Amino acid sequence: MAKICKEISVDEITDYIGGRLSRREVLRIQEHFLSCWECRNETNILLAIQYDIDSSEDPPIPEGAIERIMEDLRIREEAKSKKETESFCARFRNFLKKHFLF
Ligand SMILES: [Zn+2]
Repeated sequence: MAKICKEISVDEITDYIGGRLSRREVLRIQEHFLSCWECRNETNILLAIQYDIDSSEDPPIPEGAIERIMEDLRIREEAKSKKETESFCARFRNFLKKHFLF
C-alpha cells in the first residue's frame, strides 16, 4: 500500500476524498493535515485529478465541499496559532512583571 508519509496511505486519502471513511477516521486525517504538508498537498492533487476526471459527468463532490474542508482547516490552523501566540504573550507578560515590575 503506497504511503504518502509515515502515517497516511494514498488509499486513506482516496477514501477520505470519496467520503468512505468513518467520522473518526475523517477527524484523524484532518488532524493530520494540520501538521503534514505532504498529505495536504497530495489531497489537493487527488481532488484536482478527480474533479478533472468527473467534470465531464456529474461531479461527485458536493457543491462547496472542498471549500468547506479548506475553510475548516484554515479556522483550525488560525485557532491553533492564536492559542500559541496568546500563551506566548501571557508568558512574556509574566516575565516582564516578574523582572521589571510592570
Ligand atoms: Zn502526512
